[in-house]
Amino acid sequence: MLHLPALFSLPWHLSLFALTLTGVQASIGTVDVNDILGTNNQPILSYTDSGKSPWALKPHCIKGLQPKKQKEGKVFCVQTYRRHTGQDISLITTPETAYQTVNALDEDPVSVFLDYEAAEEYREESLPWKIVSIEGKDMGVKATRKIGQYETFMFDQASIVVALDLDNEAVIKRADYGELLETATSQLGNPDTIRKLCKGSPDGSPPVRSSHLEDIMENNAFGSSIGDIEVKGLFPSIARINHDCVPNAFIMFSPSGLSVGLKAYRDIAAGEEITVSYLPLGMTHSARQAALKGWGFECSCSLCADSASSIAAHDAKRERIKALESEIQATFQEGFVQGAIRLGQELLELTREEGLTPMLADEYVMLAKLHLAAQDEGPAEEYGELAIEVLKDLGFLGDVDEGGKEWDLESLLRAFGGQRLI
Ligand SMILES: [Zn+2]
Repeated sequence: MLHLPALFSLPWHLSLFALTLTGVQASIGTVDVNDILGTNNQPILSYTDSGKSPWALKPHCIKGLQPKKQKEGKVFCVQTYRRHTGQDISLITTPETAYQTVNALDEDPVSVFLDYEAAEEYREESLPWKIVSIEGKDMGVKATRKIGQYETFMFDQASIVVALDLDNEAVIKRADYGELLETATSQLGNPDTIRKLCKGSPDGSPPVRSSHLEDIMENNAFGSSIGDIEVKGLFPSIARINHDCVPNAFIMFSPSGLSVGLKAYRDIAAGEEITVSYLPLGMTHSARQAALKGWGFECSCSLCADSASSIAAHDAKRERIKALESEIQATFQEGFVQGAIRLGQELLELTREEGLTPMLADEYVMLAKLHLAAQDEGPAEEYGELAIEVLKDLGFLGDVDEGGKEWDLESLLRAFGGQRLI
């Protein structure tokens, strides 16, 4: 699964789901959905305002393994929905989680991420991106016209959504997960779109073994959430975007977790490849290469292909950024507020030099808090404004003209956990 860009470590994004199961007992394998869901749960499977189930087919359900000290395992069902756009979605979650998505299944990503006028304009023009073969990289995505900095220019809907706890062998048998994944894929209107995402099929034909589908999910899905349930979502067009340690774009999720929009970090020229970072930003060269092994490639982006001395210089700055984060906290805890502010300014400078824009928001907020602690309201306000500017540019604060709220230092600090620094 792809990691979220560092951007999503902002406080309103949910932290990674922590599994708490400690042991398992026997499973009962495939069962009929009517047997496992009591009559109380039946409306969940036949949701309706209109008396009709939204799902295209009868849910296919499997009972997971029984955790120790619990009465029974969770039930996971494949529920497939035929979207008006023709891009179907299969969810492999508990029926309760699938139920939470019902009102968002047909959401239009373009209207989620763009205001009315921009959405109309976007629909009228031809797509500003296309999926193409890229030398040495299989497929990739390129811009078909110039894309402006902070423009949201690519959208996608999830085709497969899987509850994250299905990755845990204590929750479900591998074979059962494979079967659910196979069913989820084959029930889509165009399952080959998904199957062809798998690289390295020996004879070039779309692979059919469920383990290949697991690979596809592992290599192409992004972490997202539905309500407070952590899931991974496969977005077939976005999945074609390659990694770069200095990406020119980043992914945003809709509140439903079912749609994504891609926003440009900087101007992108027509014909340029569009990239995102599969890793949190700010890692050192060796840490990045080690983490990217999981995707089976060695990164040759401008940062990784640089000279050894330049790589070492970047790494030194990145190590210092990491060290500063705890140094600032320790200095503040020891009562040296001005010292912490000086370290904060050093952190800011290094972050700007490394071009790690999304990290700036957190740092501006921290400096605003430090200045408040030093009873220096002027600079606190200034850093607050800088933080709001970055968050607005990155699309996190909504559009005031579109009914979004007006942000000030007070509301900003509330969103970042109050005035408390540690
Ligand atoms: Zn790289």
